[in-house]
Amino acid sequence: MPPVPEGLPGEVFDSHCHLDIMVGERQASSGDPVAQAAQAAGASIRAILEQAKSVGVTRLVTIGYDLPSSRWNAATAANHDDVYAGVAIHPNEAHASTPEVLGEIEELARLPHVRAVGETGLDYFRDWASHDDQQASFRAHIEIAKRTGKALVIHDRDAHDDVLRVLAEEGAPDVVIFHSFSGDAELAKRCSDAGYYMSFSGPVTYKNAGYLREAAGVAPMELMLVETDAPYLPPVPHRGKPNAPYLIPLTLRCLAEVKGADVRDLAAAISANGETAFGAW
Ligand SMILES: [Zn+2]
Repeated sequence: MPPVPEGLPGEVFDSHCHLDIMVGERQASSGDPVAQAAQAAGASIRAILEQAKSVGVTRLVTIGYDLPSSRWNAATAANHDDVYAGVAIHPNEAHASTPEVLGEIEELARLPHVRAVGETGLDYFRDWASHDDQQASFRAHIEIAKRTGKALVIHDRDAHDDVLRVLAEEGAPDVVIFHSFSGDAELAKRCSDAGYYMSFSGPVTYKNAGYLREAAGVAPMELMLVETDAPYLPPVPHRGKPNAPYLIPLTLRCLAEVKGADVRDLAAAISANGETAFGAW
C-alpha cells in the first residue's frame, strides 16, 4: 500500500469507494491485479476507517455494484456510524437487473444508512451489457432514487450524451452525482447548469488529464465532491498501486490548487456538499 500522506487541515469524506472489494469480501479475479493487491494487504474495515481518519477523511460512502455487494454494503453502513452505503446494479451487470433484483435494490435503498442509489449509469467503454439493457436498468434506478428520495450515483464511461439524455427524459432525482467525473470543461458546464454534483477522483491528478483539471476549474465549489473509487484509481504518485480512502488528501490538494482555493475551505465546502447530497451524518 502507498505511504500515508500529510493530513488535511480540516475534515472531508470519501464520496465513493468499495469497502467489500478492499477487504476481500468479494475475492478479486486474476484479471483485477489492483483489487488482488488491496486484498493481499489484508486491511480490515476498522483499519481502513482509522487510517482515513488519521489524515482527516472522517467518513465514507461504500458503493454497491450488484445484489450481494449492495446487501453487504448496506449491512456494513448499518454497523458503522461513519459509513453510508449506495446500492445498485452496475451498468456492466445490467442484464442482471430483473424486476425481482430491482425490487430488492429498492428495499435496500429505503434503509436509513443507505443514502444513494448507485452505482448505476452507462458504460460504453465495456460492452459486457448491451446499451439497451444498460439504459433500461439506468431508467429503473432513476425511478428508485426518486421514489426513495436518495441520491443517484452515476457511472458514466464514454456515454456523456446518453446519460444526460436519459436523465432529462426520465426527469432527474433531486440529487444527481457524476461519480469519478470523466468529462471535460464542457460537460462540467452542462452538469453545473443542471445542478448535478461532480465527484472528482485520482485521475484529476494524472499528468495527461488536463481536461479533468479544466473541468474541475469550471465546476462550482458548491457542486464538487471528492472520492477515491478505492481500491481503484489511485492518485499520483501511486498509479498502479491499490487506492484507499486515506489517499483522498492527494486528490483534494490537487483540486484546491486547480481552484486556487485554500485546502481547508475546499474541504469544508465538500463536507457541506456531502451533507446536502447524502443527508446529515
Ligand atoms: Zn465505483
